[in-house]
Amino acid sequence: MKPLGRVLDQRHGARPRRPRWWLTVLALAMSLSMLLAAPAFAGDSAPGTLRIGGDAHYPPYQFLDEDGRADGFDVALARAVAADLGLEPRFELGEWEVALDRLARGEIDLVPMFWSAEREQHYLFTQPILIRHHALFGTRQQARLESIEGLANVRVAVQRASLAAEAMRAQAAHGVTLLELPSESGTLVAVARGDADYALAPVGIGYYAIHQFELDNVIALSPPLLERKYVFAARRGRADLVARIDASLERLRADGVQNDLYVEWIGNLNPHRPRRWPLLAGGLAGLFAVGLGTYAWRRRTRPARLAFAAVGDEHALMSQLRDAIAADRLGFMLQPQVDLRTGRWLGAELLVRWHHPRRGPLAPDAFVPVAERSGDIAAMTLHLVRCGLAQRRHWPRVEPPLHLSVNVSANDLADAQLVDAIIDACAGDGAALILEITETDVMREPERVAEALPRLRAHGIRISVDDFGAGHSSLVNLRRLAPDELKIDRSFVVALLTSRSDQAIVTATIGLAHELGATVAAEGIEDAATQRWLAEAGCDAGQGFGIARPMTADAFAALLRSTPSMGE
Ligand code: C2E
Ligand code: MG
Ligand code: MG
Repeated sequence: MKPLGRVLDQRHGARPRRPRWWLTVLALAMSLSMLLAAPAFAGDSAPGTLRIGGDAHYPPYQFLDEDGRADGFDVALARAVAADLGLEPRFELGEWEVALDRLARGEIDLVPMFWSAEREQHYLFTQPILIRHHALFGTRQQARLESIEGLANVRVAVQRASLAAEAMRAQAAHGVTLLELPSESGTLVAVARGDADYALAPVGIGYYAIHQFELDNVIALSPPLLERKYVFAARRGRADLVARIDASLERLRADGVQNDLYVEWIGNLNPHRPRRWPLLAGGLAGLFAVGLGTYAWRRRTRPARLAFAAVGDEHALMSQLRDAIAADRLGFMLQPQVDLRTGRWLGAELLVRWHHPRRGPLAPDAFVPVAERSGDIAAMTLHLVRCGLAQRRHWPRVEPPLHLSVNVSANDLADAQLVDAIIDACAGDGAALILEITETDVMREPERVAEALPRLRAHGIRISVDDFGAGHSSLVNLRRLAPDELKIDRSFVVALLTSRSDQAIVTATIGLAHELGATVAAEGIEDAATQRWLAEAGCDAGQGFGIARPMTADAFAALLRSTPSMGE
């Protein structure tokens, strides 16, 4: 084991502080958006951990698999580095731009990325882990291109805050219109849909997206361009960390670990190709190894398919969703919520799940926004409320009663018929139900949400503002809404123990919620230490993988029955 204290900065005793009166006054005096815009404290890793951030949609390098776990070449290599250094790796993949922001704030230690001169002004880089290239992608009918310099009067899709965006900015003078998108694979899809003339994307990512999304008419039009080192980046001031990672990468290379990871993740992209060559190269043992690798690869192709569902044929998707609802094939999971003071179960949040007949399991993000756009959300919400409440009837009857939280959109609350139907579904027991509406949604439609509330309240149905802190609440709207619960956004909870800015925001939010007469819940609690911190800080309720993962309705009912305090 390496001396961990010297690998990463240490901070002991980051004790939760009780909400103080001045903090509450501060929170009430400022809008929360101002608070969020305040300069961040530089957070440091907990001793013994290595926090790796990145893009949740960047297969095969870094992505979240269908269970929300980080995976890919970069992830596997970072895991090996952490093991070599005796550190506990913690992966925090999400939006690419957010990863860069959190790296700059010191809330994560490392992010894999392309080297660039511009980036070198902001970060320290390890030695290269790969040399990679970009290419210009377009349709088969387009002429071949030799470089990006030749482009004029065209629309080029790039990922936001990417090396491609940086390279293309230099071309703006030639009338190039940049279409900046949140994900790399989205740039290829934009070309397939005719939204852009070209995509400038890393070669492997581009080919991968074409294969996975069956973008048959899209090809690489240029030779490999922008040859760049691919490195781990750390914040400036972390030269100690970079030196240790460099030494570790050296060892992993010498031991062949990096080589094996490359073959597993990158050298073996095409699931149809590799079946034959290992027989030539490595006999039966090789065939067995690659057989497993191919299986693993197929399993790991899910996240890209999830992403595609969001950009695919919305019309067909919605008609399939309507079929699934009609045939009662739309599923859900329940994630238990706990009283942080007493440890007692409070109820559960319903999280929709859809196993699409062809695309496999789809995450809510892949179809809920589409359903909101198409107007199918109301039917989905009502179906889920009814199914969830039907399950709740199997739960023990305890005092105070266990609740079911259901996520709704602003459109739902603006729909008077749906509000009536939800009230009917409660059959006089409104206390059974909490409706969660995201802060962003509340603030987009404050009037319509506020209108629906009195009727819901009159029947005992409660309102929770979900993902609180991620939107931009004005305190005026918050006061008018008078929510029953504020649910602190997961992004403030995951790094709570090491980020002083997150601690300040969470503490202020607890004070604010209590001043408004609301309870406060935290989501995304992944470990016992975070749970303890929140309990000591006065947070009322908690939910997260560290307490219980989302589970089937049967499993939740069984969990309740096996809990002695539930009285059965
Ligand atoms: P949300 O309401 O904030 O739900 C919490 C999400 O965080 C869930 O993801 C849950 O699986 C995940 N989660 C819970 N604990 C942890 C943790 O400790 N760590 C991490 N990393 N994640 C955790 P899911 O199920 O993918 O849902 C994503 C979002 O989709 C939800 O966010 C909600 O906004 C929306 N959604 C889910 N079900 C429905 C629904 O029935 N209707 C509507 N309108 N939206 C839904
Ligand atoms: Mg929710
Ligand atoms: Mg949430």
